[in-house]
Amino acid sequence: MNVSKLESNLEDVRRRMAAACARAGRDPSEVRLVAVTKTVTADAARALVGLGVQDLGENRVQEAARKQESLADLDIRWHMIGHLQTNKARDAVRMFDLIHSADSERLAAALDRRAPEGHEVPVLVQVNVSGEESKFGVSATVAIDELRRIADLPAIRVQGLMTMAPFVDDAEQVRPVFVRLRRLAAEVTTLGMPRVEMKHLSMGMTQDFEVAIEEGATLVRIGTALFRGV
Ligand SMILES: *Cc1c(COP(=O)(O)O)cnc(C)c1O
Repeated sequence: MNVSKLESNLEDVRRRMAAACARAGRDPSEVRLVAVTKTVTADAARALVGLGVQDLGENRVQEAARKQESLADLDIRWHMIGHLQTNKARDAVRMFDLIHSADSERLAAALDRRAPEGHEVPVLVQVNVSGEESKFGVSATVAIDELRRIADLPAIRVQGLMTMAPFVDDAEQVRPVFVRLRRLAAEVTTLGMPRVEMKHLSMGMTQDFEVAIEEGATLVRIGTALFRGV
């Protein structure tokens, strides 16, 4: 593993995040980097934590469990960013600090049922803004109703929204997706639902994180840009 390459990739990502914040007149402390480690070893993830990254994202429960075991000596906030099967709900509620991919009422109900007594489950509701069939998430047109039902589940704490934009060559093309998610969050806020906070917008990956930050992302999920050439 090439730690100096990892370090320069991280510097580059941080610099680009700061520049996007500056363009949007945002305070860089409002945007957190979630390093997506799904394609790399626990050692590479450890090296990144050594460089000051505290938030790691994984998209599979089993792989996350392996990494959590290897990195148990480190203080890491773990993010679940991939689709969860309901039969993994019991593990997921114990393993993750934030589940970005609450993509249906059915899954949210499973998470609620599996939460240990007195345990709250912080989630983001994943919205399929682009409407692509290949993507998980509640459809934007019914998101408010769905969110209301999810928020009614006693253990669930909705802390914001998450989306994945379509893959495109030019990130400008997906700006409307991020705008739509931000507006949806604003609409939810005005409704003042009990136990619902819109404090996070999880949007932006390697291809489009700068545009996502310009449109209000508070969590960017980045893998490739960090681990390229490492
Ligand atoms: C893999 C993944 C990412 C990171 O993608 P990169 O293009 O490698 O930055 C972000 N979000 C989700 C949901 C992912 O599955």
